[in-house]
Amino acid sequence: MSTELVAGLTVPTDLLRGGAWVGAQDGGRFDVIDPATAETIADVANGTVADALASVEAAAEAAAGWAATAPRERARILLRAFDLMTEREEQVAELIVRENGKSFTDALGEVRYAAEFFRWYAEEAVRVSGEIRTAPSGANRIMVVRQPIGIALLITPWNFPAAMATRKIGPALAAGCTVILKPASETPLTALAVGAILAEAGVPDGVVNVLPSRRSGAVAAAILADPRVRKLSFTGSTEVGRTLLKTAADHVISSSMELGGNAPLLVLEDADVDVAVAGAMVAKMRNGGEACTAANRIYVHRAVLAEFTEKFGAAMAALSVGPGMDGAAVGPLVNAAAVDKVDELVSDAVQRGARVVVGGARGEGPGYYYAPTVLADVPVGAQITDEEIFGPVAPVITFDTDEEAIRLANATEYGLVAYVFSKDLARALRVSEALESGMVGINRGVVSDPAAPFGGVKQSGIGREGGHEGLLEYTESKYIAVDW
Ligand code: NAP
Repeated sequence: MSTELVAGLTVPTDLLRGGAWVGAQDGGRFDVIDPATAETIADVANGTVADALASVEAAAEAAAGWAATAPRERARILLRAFDLMTEREEQVAELIVRENGKSFTDALGEVRYAAEFFRWYAEEAVRVSGEIRTAPSGANRIMVVRQPIGIALLITPWNFPAAMATRKIGPALAAGCTVILKPASETPLTALAVGAILAEAGVPDGVVNVLPSRRSGAVAAAILADPRVRKLSFTGSTEVGRTLLKTAADHVISSSMELGGNAPLLVLEDADVDVAVAGAMVAKMRNGGEACTAANRIYVHRAVLAEFTEKFGAAMAALSVGPGMDGAAVGPLVNAAAVDKVDELVSDAVQRGARVVVGGARGEGPGYYYAPTVLADVPVGAQITDEEIFGPVAPVITFDTDEEAIRLANATEYGLVAYVFSKDLARALRVSEALESGMVGINRGVVSDPAAPFGGVKQSGIGREGGHEGLLEYTESKYIAVDW
């Protein structure tokens, strides 16, 4: 089955397995909802545990052939996938808007970012190097080769339905692994569209299998229990990441985890306030705030607090809110529960003494809207500074010294990304080195780049995606001791 939800783009709505589109074995399907209208826009096959096991079988059948395919040929297919995705960027972006809700501008940005992972890993596929050296004793040579790790289970979230899939599929395919992609149930259509693009690009049958399923726990457990599966790559919440790590531990499966964030954004006293406001707008509002990299806590030095809050508040108040396809800057949140959670966090902060500078209320339905919001005087200890907001709300907090800002920024179990604004680069670098995060943006509100290692420390994750590191996550080093 398929849907013509977006003109000019036929999107299959079944499972992709072994190169064929098949229904779920029990015939089950589930609905996909448009967050802008709360209406059902499609239904998709709901993979069962039997489907999950059949996907492993398909991936296993294709594994040896794909591992033996010349890197240049793998690269050619990935490059073709890049071209196809780029040719259809507007249609894929519209598909993302329809099932995720984000603005069309954000969706188009995501498709371009997503396609770049195919191009970047096409370029990396032919540059997987090993190592050879003499043992310290001089007795033999130490030779290290890198081999594909094996079948990989890829589990992705709904907030970047295209990019989180390609950020895993690109390096896995480049390394010579076959994969099973389990997309988030809110946004399966984009993953299915990516699967169709890869098939059209010439990916052999069984190399990429796509398994939408609302039985995420059961299908993941069944797949990870198959000894042929050697890799788990997960992007999603820290809570689900913990559960999956426990399941993976039972089978000692290599696990890469891209988990939640609670990014601090620091505006030091010597910052260019206009640059900081522009950076905060991107860091907070890209994807309507539904990003793991979203600035969750904005710490501003007392000397620039009034100017920053006024200018930032004005910029947030100027954002238009509405359906993503209607040209709005900010679309709806993904579902009703997301709006409830944002509203709760704002209410808690206000009860504890925070002041609403702009926004602070739900938008009008039937879609899932929340007004862009700035909260000032947010007290330390408010729930909103401890939890991922995942919405268009920015808490502003004051500090007096760099040391205090660093201490506040690090007072969290998360450590994905942080942002620092200062005109003094040496000072910004000193602060960056003291921040407990896997990534830091200096004087800019976005860090994501397919060529750079993306990932977190502490409970924000394990491993890196993107860059050369991203490919190594899908390889094993084999050491061969050689005498000659
Ligand atoms: P989520 O609830 O953790 O779900 C992520 C994926 O895991 C979905 O495919 C979901 O499937 C699946 N899942 C849920 N429970 C599972 C289980 N018990 N076993 C196996 N799979 C399970 O996260 P989300 O709400 O989709 O995404 C938002 C989160 O992702 C945020 O915390 C955000 O920070 C994080 N994120 C992190 C990064 C990063 O790079 N660090 C990037 C983007 C997002 P169903 O949809 O079917 O439940």
